[in-house]
Amino acid sequence: MTIYWDNKYVAPEHAFDTTRKSELVADLIVETHEETGIALAAPKIEFLGKAESLIETLLDPKYVEALRTGVPISLASSNGFEWDEGIWDMAVHSTAGVINAIYETEKRPFGSVNGSLSSGLHHADNKRGMGFCTVNGLAVGAYYAHTEGHAKKKVLIIDFDAHCGGGTMSFITSLGMDWVDQLDLSTNGFDSYVAAGNHELVIHRGDERSYLQEAWSLLDAVEWDDYDLVLYNAGIDPHPRISVNGLAQRDELVFNRIFQETLPCVFVLAGGYTSSYGTIEEVADTHFNTVLASERILDLIRPFASSKSL
Ligand SMILES: [Zn+2]
Repeated sequence: MTIYWDNKYVAPEHAFDTTRKSELVADLIVETHEETGIALAAPKIEFLGKAESLIETLLDPKYVEALRTGVPISLASSNGFEWDEGIWDMAVHSTAGVINAIYETEKRPFGSVNGSLSSGLHHADNKRGMGFCTVNGLAVGAYYAHTEGHAKKKVLIIDFDAHCGGGTMSFITSLGMDWVDQLDLSTNGFDSYVAAGNHELVIHRGDERSYLQEAWSLLDAVEWDDYDLVLYNAGIDPHPRISVNGLAQRDELVFNRIFQETLPCVFVLAGGYTSSYGTIEEVADTHFNTVLASERILDLIRPFASSKSL
């Protein structure tokens, strides 16, 4: 399994969890590589070019210009960060990591998974940023997978971040991407939307036990045959209502079900904040649990697949 990251993911001067934590998760992957076999890789140059051209094609030109130049400043800082040139670099590299992971994952037909240490995606639509989100790598990734990759049926975005993926919904609706469905389990109503058609949004207010039951029920109700790629937005910000252990169990549920259905999956980090965890190291440790959960499930299914394919 390969996880994509390079130091441009943390290029902005504005220091916040979203612009810093991926480096700590990357360090954990490198430090434990001998033991886990999980590889860290920078997005390849061809995917940097691809990400840039997709951002230019799919996003409003005024927003693209603002991200590149900082003008107008209200649009350039609509993600909630002070603008500098690192914002554009972060957006391009973080998006490139998602599409590089999709490319690698789709090469393997049987339950393959890769990830990108991208975060700050699902509140951004194609016209502006919001809520620490700059460019919606989930929507751009889904577009890439369908138009240039192997996802010729539908793409399922599983968004289990604490907050709702209203930016993703707005993005895919305004571009007519009706071959993307979103399964959204949130614990907070921020960025909510009306989930019509095959989209599903649940804002869960109960305890950890019922949260995990809800996650299980939602996953069980999916018509998996409709999809040929899953993108998982693995936010860890339902904490502290949901414990670190509960989040790890949730991730195992998700990966387990996806692999049972032998679908390829790409995951990203999404929300997770020092304000809830106390230190950024604890935030990184908990995100690393998502990486480990995917690897554990891969270990379970490896005997049933060609070992080289995973
Ligand atoms: Zn969130």
